[in-house]
Amino acid sequence: TDFSSLGLCEPLLQAVTEQGYKKASPIQAKAIPMVLTGRDVMASAQTGTGKTAGFTLPLLHRLSEMRSLKNHPVRALILVPTRELAVQVGESVVRYGQNLSLRSTVAYGGVDIEPQITALKAGADVLTATPGRLLDLIRKKHLTLDHLKILVLDEADRMLDLGFKTELDQILEALPAKRQNLLFSATFSKEIKALAHEFQRHPVKIEI
Ligand code: AMP
Repeated sequence: TDFSSLGLCEPLLQAVTEQGYKKASPIQAKAIPMVLTGRDVMASAQTGTGKTAGFTLPLLHRLSEMRSLKNHPVRALILVPTRELAVQVGESVVRYGQNLSLRSTVAYGGVDIEPQITALKAGADVLTATPGRLLDLIRKKHLTLDHLKILVLDEADRMLDLGFKTELDQILEALPAKRQNLLFSATFSKEIKALAHEFQRHPVKIEI
């Protein structure tokens, strides 16, 4: 599938070309148009399938179409289970968004919180975070999620395996009710389906 047939804006298509991608992967071909409609999506995809671009590209497209807000409050939150993944996904957001004027930052535990607080103060349209550190930042009031429009749970199965269910529930409570919810998981176990049911509305299911 050609990226140009998926409905993405020119700056994103250009970024994709600059990455050297020739064709959209199966998960990208299915997920990108669905996410662009604004619907909730639950997708099963292993790492290495191109799932990160599958949610990042349409997420950036949707943000770029919304009225930009002064001070750049967080409008998209990508929750990931580990620090390594936070760094990796954060880098993808920057690469795919290089031709858009959106700000991106990351927040994860195990490192000094101060630089993350400073970065959030400077404004971040997209925040990629691990659950524990995110809650810390919310509790200390360094972050408001009142303007959140899109939530992504990446590697949701690993998130549950690592015991983040309580943190997830607390985070969900801090989010505005009206938002788009995307869930990516390697498997659709009973637990993942229950989680999806908890925070998604009539999700489109994508399995590859
Ligand atoms: P992911 O599954 O999101 O971790 O992506 C796996 C790798 O595939 C990353 O290194 C991406 O840069 C790369 N990638 C993602 N989409 C494409 C594509 N459409 N064509 C070629 N490589 C891609």
